[in-house]
Amino acid sequence: MIHNDIKKILVTAEELDNICKRLGKEITNDYKDKEPLFIGLLNGCLPFMSDLLKHVDVYCEVGYLRVSSYVNDKSTGDIKILSTLPDVKGRDVILVDDICDTGKTINKLENLLKTAGANSVKTCVLLDKPEGRTEVCNPDYIGRNVPKEFVVGYGLDYNEKYRNLAYVGVLKEEIYKK
Ligand code: IMP
Ligand code: MG
Repeated sequence: MIHNDIKKILVTAEELDNICKRLGKEITNDYKDKEPLFIGLLNGCLPFMSDLLKHVDVYCEVGYLRVSSYVNDKSTGDIKILSTLPDVKGRDVILVDDICDTGKTINKLENLLKTAGANSVKTCVLLDKPEGRTEVCNPDYIGRNVPKEFVVGYGLDYNEKYRNLAYVGVLKEEIYKK
């Protein structure tokens, strides 16, 4: 069972649900008179973005971008865009990712979307790991902060696994050392 690989649960399914409700309300309020385009970063954004969208009560559109920077548990810092950019010209974009760690992914994508002609770009992350920052990055919508530990579940992976956990947890060290 994959649950046996988890040292401790950090964010329960109930808390994740509450986070999506709260952020959905905030976004609904902020975008009352707009028609935002949500762009999710694959694969990590998936469970979070689909649950979040259920609580967004404005007309909106959805798109995705496939990016990669991580090899195992280490960020290579070299963010590759592996899919074509949705048309963002004149759009109010909300960029959605699972977690902000060094800040490189969010910053790079935010700049890319602005350069591509977005009217506005806001960033929304389920988790924030402020101690991991190597550059200034302040996501506009944050589910909650987590300590500087490698977390998995609810979209977050280690080696592409554990995304299907219904909670966010810390992986046992022996899993890395295998
Ligand atoms: P950043 O560019 O360093 O901010 O990293 C952002 C990306 O790294 C996220 O999209 C995640 O895919 C990945 N990441 C960062 N920290 C973790 C973690 O603790 N668990 C799983 N993935 C992580
Ligand atoms: Mg990832």
